[in-house]
Amino acid sequence: MTLSTHAVSGGIIASVVSRLPIVGFVLAFLSHFALDAIPHWDYKLASKKKGESGPLTDDIVLNKDFVSDLLKIALDLLIGIAAIIILHYLFRFPLGSLILGGIAGALPDLLQFVYFKTRIEPFISIQKFHIWIHSKKRIMSPILGILIQAAIVSALVIVARIL
Ligand SMILES: [Zn+2]
Repeated sequence: MTLSTHAVSGGIIASVVSRLPIVGFVLAFLSHFALDAIPHWDYKLASKKKGESGPLTDDIVLNKDFVSDLLKIALDLLIGIAAIIILHYLFRFPLGSLILGGIAGALPDLLQFVYFKTRIEPFISIQKFHIWIHSKKRIMSPILGILIQAAIVSALVIVARIL
């Protein structure tokens, strides 16, 4: 899923247990994998190269495609930050929890990058788990994909408001 969906979802989850920031961080981190297990749309990274011996051998190549990918990622993160600010003002979710959970929710994708560039433990095991849990079904339509992710975030907001 997009980083903004992961960050916003993580932030909402951490807000529910705002008195227990470590629990919130862990739950938000784990929510990344739960969300990735749902079939979803995601934007492609041009600098991602498919490995010859399966997904564990994929790589991110630091070429000029990587610069345009960074712009996509930055835009994605900006949307996430904007959504977090809006959620804070609209629904009074604590900003500290939103930020902490937001970082934790997006973190597994940063760890993928660390894996690609280091190929050492514990990143190998985390990457194996990430690939294993990640849905193999892909939603092709970006519009449908974004609508579904917005619906998931909305559902989380409703549940968090009830709890
Ligand atoms: Zn992921």
